[in-house]
Amino acid sequence: MEDLLKNLVKNNQAKSKLGEVANYIPELDKAKKDALGICIYDINGNEYCAGDCEEKFTIQSISKIITLMLAILDNGEEYVFSKVGMEPTGDPFNSIKKLETSSRKRPYNPMINAGAIAVSSMIKGKDAREKFQRLLDFVRKISEDDTLDVNYKIYCGESETGNRNRAMGYFLKSQNIIEGNVEDALDVYFKQCSIEATAKNLARIGLFLARGGKTSTGEQVINPRIATIVKTLMVTCGMYDSSGEFAVRVGIPSKSGVGGGIVSVVPGKMGIGVFGPSLDKRGNSVAGVAVLEELSKELSLTIF
Ligand code: GLU
Repeated sequence: MEDLLKNLVKNNQAKSKLGEVANYIPELDKAKKDALGICIYDINGNEYCAGDCEEKFTIQSISKIITLMLAILDNGEEYVFSKVGMEPTGDPFNSIKKLETSSRKRPYNPMINAGAIAVSSMIKGKDAREKFQRLLDFVRKISEDDTLDVNYKIYCGESETGNRNRAMGYFLKSQNIIEGNVEDALDVYFKQCSIEATAKNLARIGLFLARGGKTSTGEQVINPRIATIVKTLMVTCGMYDSSGEFAVRVGIPSKSGVGGGIVSVVPGKMGIGVFGPSLDKRGNSVAGVAVLEELSKELSLTIF
């Protein structure tokens, strides 16, 4: 397995030339464009890694699956999906247009920014600080890594440049989709995007979902139904507006972020973490997607 992963990294590293590193915050632009790493934890907990799998990056949109798990734990499935839909949009992740024009009157799904900000507003806690601390404790638990934390330079950049997200937050507040304090919801959202992790951490989170919401100690942190909801939304909405193409080419429930990370889940089999900061036009890691496509073919991992 380790040889296979090394070859996948070697074969696909040059593809990073085809994309660009995210640069909407100067701090993100510092990532090494041709970095590429992959880590797999199989269902028995065996670890296989190749390339830059200890390199830290911010999880960005990958945090959306984490807040979704905690928001459902905190509020129940019915409440969460009374405020946010379950349908893919086919639009870019930060698109604002369907928010007002659609007859649904709520964000289409929890993986686009509008839906994710609404979900962040549902995390329980007396203020933004307590809400975020609960989220951080949760992600540390499911990744089995107590050292995970926020990159504060990136958090400041997210907050300073996040006016589009702020606009969506206030719109959601006006529609009563966000019931609590909108600034608290935005602060949680900017911080969750700025959590730093490695491909190894992502593989652990993938394994947690592959096991239906259990850690390696056997603790059932979320019930399997929540894990199923999250994995399903990863298939339909997890890879921005190329989720359909990714499902055909790779066929593994996955969520990407503009920091270059991808977390993938082969249910009952393995968790996979990939890092490659050079992104395609949709915001997915160019080399990362190529690695996953080859891996899926080699090991017949498609769930379809
Ligand atoms: N912080 C980014 C934003 O909200 C996250 C983007 C992403 O990873 O999709 O615009």
